[in-house]
Amino acid sequence: MGSSILSIIYLIGSVTFILGLKMLSKPDTARKGNLVAAAGMTLAILGTIFLYKTNGEHLHNYGWITAGLLIGGIVGVLSAKKVKMTAMPEMVSMFNGMGGACAALISIVEFNHLIHFSSQPGDVIKDGMSQLTKLLQQVIANSSSMANSDLNLNNIIDFRGQLTIILLGLIIGSVSFAGSVVAWGKLSGKVKDFSFNGQHILNLLVMAVLVIAAIVLVVIVNDRLLTTQTDGNPLLVLKLLFYSILLLSLFYGVLFVLPIGGADMPVVISLLNSFTGVAAACGGFLYDNPVMLTGGILVGSAGTILTILMCKAMNRSLKNVLIGSFGGVKTANADNKDQGVYKEISLNDAAVVLAYANKVIIVPGYGLAVAQAQHACHELEKMLEDKGVIVKYAIHPVAGRMPGHMNVLLAEADVPYEKLLEMEDANAEFPTTDVVLVLGANDVVNPAAKSDPNSPIYGMPILEVENAKLVIVNKRSMKPGYAGIENDLFFQPKTSMLFGDAKQVLQHLLAEIKQV
Ligand code: NDP
Repeated sequence: MGSSILSIIYLIGSVTFILGLKMLSKPDTARKGNLVAAAGMTLAILGTIFLYKTNGEHLHNYGWITAGLLIGGIVGVLSAKKVKMTAMPEMVSMFNGMGGACAALISIVEFNHLIHFSSQPGDVIKDGMSQLTKLLQQVIANSSSMANSDLNLNNIIDFRGQLTIILLGLIIGSVSFAGSVVAWGKLSGKVKDFSFNGQHILNLLVMAVLVIAAIVLVVIVNDRLLTTQTDGNPLLVLKLLFYSILLLSLFYGVLFVLPIGGADMPVVISLLNSFTGVAAACGGFLYDNPVMLTGGILVGSAGTILTILMCKAMNRSLKNVLIGSFGGVKTANADNKDQGVYKEISLNDAAVVLAYANKVIIVPGYGLAVAQAQHACHELEKMLEDKGVIVKYAIHPVAGRMPGHMNVLLAEADVPYEKLLEMEDANAEFPTTDVVLVLGANDVVNPAAKSDPNSPIYGMPILEVENAKLVIVNKRSMKPGYAGIENDLFFQPKTSMLFGDAKQVLQHLLAEIKQV
């Protein structure tokens, strides 16, 4: 009875994940989608705690489980409440790392279950596996020969299958954990880009050693342990190999993300996200838990699709992402080039050109999020529309600091979704646009991505705002954006700079436009 209820709970959990994900694809239903999926997850967790049985017994250790839930829950809620919108990507990175760490910890626990027979109630190992590990111990103790044992080929295959999944969870989870921690450090400015000559080769080498060590552990060492009697302690060899793989995976995670900088972090973040999903799915396989499997696969596949979309947006191949060391090192002349002079526009003049334009396209960027100027921006849009101006927004896929950052920001201010133009559509509309108002965006409108092969963002598709009749750029100074490079756009004849904090500038603009 309990197991049928649990199956139904898992089914409901899986359905809520799929529905939640679907709802997350539209800003107006995203919040509800998040709640639906969270409710399904809560149900699945409670069902597992109270109804899941292993070896005929319910879970025990309720004290530990409750303590873990309370600590995790309180830390999660407090940090989510406290985090500033602009620091969300760092938090997402950290949460993603925690998911990877969980998957790796599951693998460590299950590896120890696998190699140490235990008949304790609550042992998650299935009967066949327990027998196998018991036999393994007998082999080690020289107390039984394989001929007498009831070990059969299926058990060996099962043993290897389990070990393979454990290793996959360990490697992918650890890479994701270490990589996400480095990504968190980079996004928060605590870790600097670091690369050296031959980094690609070292990365490939470490990855190759990892794969070989995992194969050795599954095929060769196992085989030997299961078919011969040994005098020494073969379990020690197994453990040594296993923990070396853990350390190497952590090392690879750091190596893999450390050199990546400039404008390429979004690709890495979504790739790490998909890694965590796959690692969690390995946990679902191990525990034969359908809801964990569905959740992991959904995160893994959604993360993979997002990675591919991000790669397209950044014009990078996935191969480059995997071997690391791209986009992080900028060339000397990218910074030292003589840019010429820029011109400024007064608030009053800006108000006049905006109010008398036929069509205005607003380009939001990270600075708009920093200034929390989304509401003022929506006010400006409404005020201009009241004056008969057509107003749209051009959204670059990597504007801000996380995928969909600008969509979320503008949705918060109730900007209608139909007003948001994707990059290709916006580029098609710029030539017929009177004024482009760039609000706190920099890298995503940098023409060097098209014209300067030495630029670290060369090849990244950008919003071609320079094709409009006039460009007004609002930022606080001439400082570069995330990629750390100068922007030729600011020095072009059609461009005028409107310096100041985005929120204050917009509030002043609103006041000025009222007078026009
Ligand atoms: P950028 O980081 O290129 O530029 C933001 C600009 O905003 C800065 O030049 C800054 O100039 C200005 N700014 C900061 N605060 C304010 C403020 N209060 N008021 C007005 N302006 C302000 O942002 P973009 O959105 O153009 O590009 C995003 C970059 O981040 C890309 O390089 C992308 O690859 C990267 N990235 C994106 C991620 C994603 O998933 N979207 C994740 C990680 C990185 P000043 O200091 O002079 O005001």
